[in-house]
Amino acid sequence: MKENEIKFKLRTNDDKVVEILAEVKDKKLYRMGKPILCNCSGNTQDTATPFIFEDGEVVCPECGRKSESVYSFEDYENSELSNIHLKYFGIDFVTMQELYKLSYTLPYEDWIKVSDLFMKLKPDMVDMGFFEPQYVGWVTSNPEEVEERLDIKPELRVNYIKEKQEQEQEQKQQEVMQLKDNLSSILEVFSIVDTPQIVDGKFELDGEVIDNPINPKNMYGGGEWFVISDDYIWYVRQNAREGDNWNLNNVYVKGSAGAIGKKVEYDRDLADKIRSFKR
Ligand SMILES: [Zn+2]
Repeated sequence: MKENEIKFKLRTNDDKVVEILAEVKDKKLYRMGKPILCNCSGNTQDTATPFIFEDGEVVCPECGRKSESVYSFEDYENSELSNIHLKYFGIDFVTMQELYKLSYTLPYEDWIKVSDLFMKLKPDMVDMGFFEPQYVGWVTSNPEEVEERLDIKPELRVNYIKEKQEQEQEQKQQEVMQLKDNLSSILEVFSIVDTPQIVDGKFELDGEVIDNPINPKNMYGGGEWFVISDDYIWYVRQNAREGDNWNLNNVYVKGSAGAIGKKVEYDRDLADKIRSFKR
């Protein structure tokens, strides 16, 4: 379908419903260059009334006869047929080729363009003990050629989607690496400071709490987090499991046997790095 076209259904005088593809020009409808006419006022070009397309409906301005339904170019653009593409189906264990299936049934005129590239998997060709019954039907091992011939949208093509998924995965891996880098540089800062001792009770920390993204605080007495206050940044490791030496704990943790905390003076860069874990 083209942008200036609509498809509509019209009931004929002998009560049949016909589907018509029409070109729209200034509200008027044309089929193969000729106006589409209603015969309420006559049967000749001069006497019959041309249908018009208005407010989403095809209507005869003379007798008020209306289309049963209108299918616009917009509908077509959003339809499954317009967005047809190949979906990965499985491996052919004989040829070891990847097989693809169409996402939607093609109209006959399109199917004949590509039918030579498809083969039909029948139930006796696949191991039905292994495959579900839906793994039967028309498949192709030549997705690029099918996509070319059907002029499938570039963003729906097999290779494009594969590449995009690979890129996304690579980006995710890079983010994880970046996060690990950040974390190890932060922990390095704390590795060279001593654990401050407290004579009576424990430090009660007040500030912005941010979990270690790889080992967050958990309810089993473990996990690590940071506390950013105006004066200090604390690195806190919960040490409250059965078998942990609770005597080492210098930080109070509500509902827990406590944690071991180390602190450094507030540093803007360090705080920013830790805050990056919140995203
Ligand atoms: Zn009419």
